[in-house]
Amino acid sequence: MVESPPGLEGQGFFATSLDSLVGLARANSLWPLPFATSCCGIEFMSTMASHYDIGRFGAERLSFSARQADVLMVMGTIAKKMAPVVKQVYLQMAEPRWVLSVGACACSGGIFDTYSVLQGIDRIIPVDVYVPGCPPRPEQILDGFMQIQELAKKESTRRRNMPEYKALLASYGIE
Ligand code: SF4
Repeated sequence: MVESPPGLEGQGFFATSLDSLVGLARANSLWPLPFATSCCGIEFMSTMASHYDIGRFGAERLSFSARQADVLMVMGTIAKKMAPVVKQVYLQMAEPRWVLSVGACACSGGIFDTYSVLQGIDRIIPVDVYVPGCPPRPEQILDGFMQIQELAKKESTRRRNMPEYKALLASYGIE
């Protein structure tokens, strides 16, 4: 059972703000879009499987369609040739959308400090949470996912229309 958001509580009822209620619903029904290109993707398979079971967080329904996804999980090495594809997938996602960068390669290029590898996906799209490690263990991926849940829970329903958010997107050339 999830905890009810802060507000007035009594036997059989609670009263709270709409923002908290929407945040509660969003946080516990985040649909991930796994963008896995290499070894970190294998750790994600383990995160999905019965032992770690990401379904405990309401996220067992993977979305391979960007338009029905809430969290873009980028896992693995992203070659510069692949970068426009990652950005296109991000652009196709509806708001509110979150981005989880999993593993050293997605966060910073990892050990591949070469001409052909993107040195971190935050060079092309905004990232909400970074999970370090090469590879990160499933517990770390779950922890990163829980951080996204916290962000979703606390986010105001107006945030995506705020000038600060628009300025953030504009800094990535996204209108
Ligand atoms: S961070 Fe390490 S484990 Fe993950 S994709 Fe890169 S090389 Fe593979």
